[in-house]
Amino acid sequence: MSKTASRIVSEARNLVAFSGAGLSAESGVPTFRDATTGGLWKRHDPTKLASPQGFARDPQLVVEWYAHRRRAIAQAVPNPAHRALAARDDILNITQNVDDLLERAGAQALVRLHGTLAADRCDSGCGYRESIDLADPPSLRSCPRCGDHLRPDVVWFGETLPANVWEAAESACRRCDVLLIIGTSAAVHPAAGLIGLAKASGAQLIVINTQPSEASELADIELLGNASALVPEVLD
Ligand code: NAD
Ligand code: ZN
Repeated sequence: MSKTASRIVSEARNLVAFSGAGLSAESGVPTFRDATTGGLWKRHDPTKLASPQGFARDPQLVVEWYAHRRRAIAQAVPNPAHRALAARDDILNITQNVDDLLERAGAQALVRLHGTLAADRCDSGCGYRESIDLADPPSLRSCPRCGDHLRPDVVWFGETLPANVWEAAESACRRCDVLLIIGTSAAVHPAAGLIGLAKASGAQLIVINTQPSEASELADIELLGNASALVPEVLD
């Protein structure tokens, strides 16, 4: 199966990768399902923390949770799957991940659907934004421009994706002839809709995941296993 996938990939004229939390799992960045299995954050539901309602209810708690995630990402290193994707300058990477592991692996062409943890921005939308050090994340603080709270520069559950980012992702998925889908449950919308769009536009879909996902049904080829082993194999 992975031989057929390698052949399809090597013959692709326009290759796009669409990744999720499973890409970074083996770097030690927990997926949302795993994010709260241990320690202090066990009691909290990440889909509630990562939401405008969660932030409005308890901004301090949400910023502390992000500080914990940011420190974990600072300690993580890109794994062979990030490196294999980054090594191919003919691949456009569309990612749902908010970590910086694809960048640190050297990926150039990157569409970040859900923003980045490496920056904060003003919650009021006044336009203030600043880079932050993932190893030394800030606590809750106010916007120097308008006084509202600063928040991570990510897209929360229930929020709209930035229009320019969404348009770039849609147009890439319409144009590609092969879509490599890596480590995503394909359950978070609208991002997951890109898979159906690529399929409807005639692309072949190769899915890499440790287990069946919402993308299984649409897959031309599904490879079950770890991204760190399968992605380098398929891109070889
Ligand atoms: P998800 O947690 O819903 O799904 C992760 C998928 O990865 C699962 O289907 C799982 O079976 C698979 N997986 C786990 N380990 C794997 C491995 N080693 N190799 C291959 N596959 C593996 O994540 P999602 O689909 O990205 O969507 C959830 C949302 O969570 C996204 O919006 C994303 O922004 C956010 N998130 C991001 C990060 C990150 O930036 N690293 C981490 C957690 C959550
Ligand atoms: Zn502001």
